[in-house]
Amino acid sequence: MNFPSYLLEPTQQERLAVQQAVETYIQSFLTQLPTLPAFVDSPEKGAGLLESPIEDTPISIEQALGLLQTQVDEPGITSASGGHLGYIPGGGLYYSALGDYLAAVTNKYAGIFFSAPGAVRMENMLLRWMASLIGFPQDAAGNLTSGGSIASLIALATARDAKKITSRIIPDAVVYTTAHAHHCLDKALRIAGLGECPVRHISMDDRYRMVPEALEQAILEDKAAGLIPWLLIASAGTTDVGAIDPLTHLGKIAQKHQLWYHVDAAYGGFFTLAPSGKPRLQGIGEADSVVMDPHKGLFIPYGLGAVLIKNRKQTAETHHYLANYMQDALSATEEASPADLSPELSKHFRGLRLWLPLKLHGVGAFRNALEEKLNLAQYAYEQLTNLPGFEVPVVPELSVVIFRYVPKAGIEANEFNQKLIKAVQQDGRVFLSSTLLDGNFMLRLAILSFRTHQDTIDLALRILQEKATEIEQESRS
Ligand SMILES: *Cc1c(COP(=O)(O)O)cnc(C)c1O
Repeated sequence: MNFPSYLLEPTQQERLAVQQAVETYIQSFLTQLPTLPAFVDSPEKGAGLLESPIEDTPISIEQALGLLQTQVDEPGITSASGGHLGYIPGGGLYYSALGDYLAAVTNKYAGIFFSAPGAVRMENMLLRWMASLIGFPQDAAGNLTSGGSIASLIALATARDAKKITSRIIPDAVVYTTAHAHHCLDKALRIAGLGECPVRHISMDDRYRMVPEALEQAILEDKAAGLIPWLLIASAGTTDVGAIDPLTHLGKIAQKHQLWYHVDAAYGGFFTLAPSGKPRLQGIGEADSVVMDPHKGLFIPYGLGAVLIKNRKQTAETHHYLANYMQDALSATEEASPADLSPELSKHFRGLRLWLPLKLHGVGAFRNALEEKLNLAQYAYEQLTNLPGFEVPVVPELSVVIFRYVPKAGIEANEFNQKLIKAVQQDGRVFLSSTLLDGNFMLRLAILSFRTHQDTIDLALRILQEKATEIEQESRS
């Protein structure tokens, strides 16, 4: 068979027909979403996809959408659902999807200012807006990344070079954080060649926040032992419990001992938009680098993190490059090019998926939605505290509520809560995840979807009571 290359350019009529089919699918998905299960534990797990191999013969859009629905969209977590209360839920704003559509069709090359000055201006404008949210200067460097993990890698690679942590001193160059710091930071350290740095897990208070006095003591001990303290990693919203380390106090210690101060605000950072969140994040502006994820706190679909670095020069030194074939681009310098501030050269034009929803909804809509999440967490905390059998060890600082059921007798608590999370997941109407806290198996309600409202929380609480009662009865009989 002969496939001329112009087959890759559908006619307008063909485009509209395919787009109509996609739009019909999407509208039906969104209409059904409130009643779809938040989790489907299918035995097949999407394996039906493999029955349609990648081959020369095309399939129709109807066939493609059929595969997508049954093999991709249905199994696993329905991440777009308001009932997704596990891990840190993502969002999935519709206007963001339209932004992606526009970005993909026009396919602007957003890595270089010369190539797409408007696209780069848009990304940098969004980063300056984020800088202003956290009290960073307008000339701070920033980059829109695929997520918090890559953003953290950029921050820590910059920190490494700024503090001149070369291979000879790595085994003596000490990093300070807590046991609740996100694992992507360990990963970033290792990828950045810093895996041999000693890491001190500083003790936490009863709300799982770093104890500044313990930090300072550890720094002094390390200095006395001839080691080189160089990096402090604080959390503004831990994944486990949503704790915020004492950012201002830690900033002072970092400055006094000349440590690079990194704040991981991937989950918590955008709560600074919410009136009652802002004071909780006070001190974040003291950091040298901050990571915050629009695909968490701004409800953007997965694939959008951000890093901000106070001193622009430092991150450019780590990431700039020169290549002969890029010489035409060198003359255009009004705005920094993303390619000079990150490991990426070619990249998705990520700005549009954030700019469009911010412009079409206005920032106020985000402010209100984030305030709602904080209120819902307080509500869930109060309700759970009053439910017989449930134990809630900490008041939520942001929108993660951590709790467990303490069974009366006949069954050990960890075993009971493992059964409870499993029962809730099997039920599927909402999705919750679990963690370990001081050896105790704990359940979490992580409230961050823009589609989660009070009725979702009430449903989750009903399901928890229902399943706990069932397990109590089983274990007694
Ligand atoms: C999600 C998260 C990360 C990692 O970000 P990704 O976008 O998943 O790569 C880092 N830190 C915290 C606190 C997070 O919640």
